[in-house]
Amino acid sequence: MSNPPKGEKTFHGIAVSAGVCRGKILVLHRARHLISRREISDDAVASEVKRFEHSLVRTRTQIKEVQRRVTQNMSAAEGDIFEAHLMMLEDRVVIDEVIRTIREQKVNADFAFHTVADRYVAAMEQVEDEYLRERAADMKDLTGRVLDNLLEVKDAFDLKHLSEPCILVAHDLSPSTTAQLDKKLVLGFATDIGGKTSHTAIMARSLDIPAVVGLKAISEELESGDYILLDGYNGTVVVNPTDKTLFQYGQLEKNKASLDEKLREIIRQPAVTLDGKAIHLSANIEDQFDVEAVLQHGADGVGLFRTEFLFINREQLPGEEDQYQVYRQVAAALKPQQVIIRTLDLGGDKFASNLQLDKEVNPFLGWRAIRFCLAQPEMFRAQLRAILRASAEGNIKMMYPMISGLDEWNRATTLLEQCKAELRAENIPFDEKMDVGAMIEIPSAALIADSLAKRVKFFSIGSNDLIQYTLAADRTNEKVSHLYEPTHPAILRLIKMTVEAAHKHGIWTGVCGEIGGDPVLVPLLIGLGVDELSCAPAIIPEVKYIIRRIKLAEAQALAEFALGCDSPSEIFARCLELARSNAPSLFENKA
Ligand code: PEP
Ligand code: MG
Repeated sequence: MSNPPKGEKTFHGIAVSAGVCRGKILVLHRARHLISRREISDDAVASEVKRFEHSLVRTRTQIKEVQRRVTQNMSAAEGDIFEAHLMMLEDRVVIDEVIRTIREQKVNADFAFHTVADRYVAAMEQVEDEYLRERAADMKDLTGRVLDNLLEVKDAFDLKHLSEPCILVAHDLSPSTTAQLDKKLVLGFATDIGGKTSHTAIMARSLDIPAVVGLKAISEELESGDYILLDGYNGTVVVNPTDKTLFQYGQLEKNKASLDEKLREIIRQPAVTLDGKAIHLSANIEDQFDVEAVLQHGADGVGLFRTEFLFINREQLPGEEDQYQVYRQVAAALKPQQVIIRTLDLGGDKFASNLQLDKEVNPFLGWRAIRFCLAQPEMFRAQLRAILRASAEGNIKMMYPMISGLDEWNRATTLLEQCKAELRAENIPFDEKMDVGAMIEIPSAALIADSLAKRVKFFSIGSNDLIQYTLAADRTNEKVSHLYEPTHPAILRLIKMTVEAAHKHGIWTGVCGEIGGDPVLVPLLIGLGVDELSCAPAIIPEVKYIIRRIKLAEAQALAEFALGCDSPSEIFARCLELARSNAPSLFENKA
């Protein structure tokens, strides 16, 4: 493809992790394909040809979509570049040769296509004509796309070989890829798709690197080596920024430095409102290496340990002993502060590649979290035993994700009791009084909070899922991000209902979803009666800052207004007004 114009150009997306960075980008293209020759039977020939034709149709639809977006976002001339791809895709000479290879040599479609396409690319690279030589690059690009479709490749980048700092640009990054990023080398990232509470965005906040998602076709429009400025406060990416723009952004960096100074001053101060209401402010972590950040940012222990990241990016699943070592390390390092370990929440957008789970049409509504664990009792028991054993070495509490009704709670409790009995028989110590709680992240759980509250020791509201399930808006899909509204009255009522049920039965309620780390929404949550907030370690100081600058009375007045208002945007505006007027420094970098 020809180079994009070199003038300044701004892309707008969704800001998911605060901060500004600038530098050269690395565009992550899809993985190289592993193609092997497979002999096929006579009977399989027709279906193999069909598979090939199908991949051409899918590729065509995808290119058309990219072309449409590029034309819309850049210019018709840029969009025309894809005409060459479309023409090649319809080239009968190539298509017929691939089909002939499948039929005559009785080989798999990917092998046949790869062999034929490679030969054409090699021939094009040899010709004198510069225009034709450039088309070889188009053909390579196209070959990759067709192979992606044939092999159903989605997202498989190898980031282990980064040698210099860069900003990553990709169509999407999976949570498992994001979990592997080296903060020293990845200054930030920008993706075409994604939402604010996708696990990829959560990982960016946890790594404390600026990120913008939902940038539509940025990975198609930019090339590795382009220089960009990424603004994770406002969700923009500026390519080839002018000196004037760089100067303006310099001001953001200065604002950030002066805010950091203010935040440092309160790191060891309590999270208490101006009129004396103390809030338990804890951190969300993904592994034992996050403990340092928890201590550094002045959190009151851990409110959510997402244990699934111990299961992702590993050759072998961790057994009881491996898990025990991790949990005890975290508990011991943070003792006497509490560490709430959430049992495995695989599924949705978090997969362990080595589990070979079947693809599901609706993974977020499917076999995930507690459903998956109850169906895999041996795996679940290993985790329960590991958590129980670690409870002897610190202040551990445990909670189950995705509880939808009492039955799941009862079944999990039965398994837990069995594990306790085994440990007693084996003379292995554990905390007999370890508190066990339930996450409230499915609307049905909030609606029966009264029944659950009689059984559990605490609630932790998983607002990321609670919002997506209540409003039927996929948390990872930028196309419905306008519907994903934390201040929707339905959400506020469910939170209120949960808090009231908890308090009636003498237990506490926390919020460990992303709204618990949003300074704009924190006063509203406190006003609704939430007792604990848990968020990424790096955000703790900002949340503490806002808590220390509001009065419980004004938070309660805000909640009262919100519960009587039926407009999400009006509620949000009131939240913003309160937060901005009480803590203006937190908003200096937001437009
Ligand atoms: C949530 O759903 O709000 C939550 C904290 O869990 P996760 O984001 O891991 O699904
Ligand atoms: Mg959840």
